[in-house]
Amino acid sequence: QPLTASSSEPEERALESALRPKNLDDFVGQQRVRRQLSLVLEASKIRGRTADHVLLSGPPGLGKTTLAMIIAAEMNAPLRISSGPAIQHAGDLAAILSSLSEGEVLFLDEIHRMSRPAEEMLYMAMEDFRVDIIVGKGAGATAIPLELPPFTLVGATTRAGLLPGPLRDRFGFTGHLEFYATEELELVLRRSAMLMDMKVNSAGFAEVAGRSRGTPRIANRLLRRVRDWALVHGIEQIDARGASEALDMYEVDARGLDRLDRNVLHALCTKFGGGPVGLSTLAIAVGEETETVETVAEPYLVREGLLGRTPRGRIATAAAWAHLGLAMPADAVL
Ligand code: ADP
Repeated sequence: QPLTASSSEPEERALESALRPKNLDDFVGQQRVRRQLSLVLEASKIRGRTADHVLLSGPPGLGKTTLAMIIAAEMNAPLRISSGPAIQHAGDLAAILSSLSEGEVLFLDEIHRMSRPAEEMLYMAMEDFRVDIIVGKGAGATAIPLELPPFTLVGATTRAGLLPGPLRDRFGFTGHLEFYATEELELVLRRSAMLMDMKVNSAGFAEVAGRSRGTPRIANRLLRRVRDWALVHGIEQIDARGASEALDMYEVDARGLDRLDRNVLHALCTKFGGGPVGLSTLAIAVGEETETVETVAEPYLVREGLLGRTPRGRIATAAAWAHLGLAMPADAVL
């Protein structure tokens, strides 16, 4: 399981929620999204209206769920959480929508994975706060309109491009979350270390941040691994050497690449001569779903300048060959 994926372990999940910032001021980084969102929320509070629907896009672990919770908290509204894959029939969505209370925030994670009929029902619900419940089948089927209380939909997707235009257009505000800078991750880590009662020096924080793949979820998870390591070795204060020694054990390299990232690069170089190769072929070569490679591994590899996208497919850059310690063939496409 890639480090970025939501954890299924109850203990990890409990920790994740304990470390979640509860308001916009505690939310580190993403300044632009934070400012814009704060304006949207302020304005709706002044008007005494339910906030506009919000779409959040970006790779896993960057804070989309956290922001949805913050939106609900700032609006003093209850929060309902569901996800695209959990809504396979329009009826599933109708059940959720018809039980919302006025002003409630509905968070739909992985909204791009909803079924078509549910999606169409959502269009109407978002725009007119109304759904048509279909009763009966075939020629005798009738649509019974059902009024909904005004609510705020917060949709999350790993890539806004995966959403059909009509759905995207119905959001009043779209925020794109970017990978975090190392200094921002250090702030996330300082806050988490304080909450976890850990002693880490500045160099130690920098070391963990540098390996966190620009992702707060990973930063927190690595910090926990470092804590385990320190506990076992009886170390009071964690420094850079301790952090790197601990993290080397977890297959997170100095550049923050995890196993999936390295597998993708390795396959690209050794099986396809560095490319260009199509994304789905590459995904098959590493035994992953295309969407996982595209939304989890690729964005970070591109940002790190290790992978390039060309019209003919993905290519490994010179930096990728160097990072893997492989000799770049003379005829490699760059
Ligand atoms: P996503 O929904 O985008 O996958 P989450 O909102 O679940 O990501 O965030 C994952 C973890 O990272 C949470 O435990 C949260 O505490 C932490 N986190 C995310 N963004 C921030 C941030 N900006 N500041 C501090 N912690 C953050």
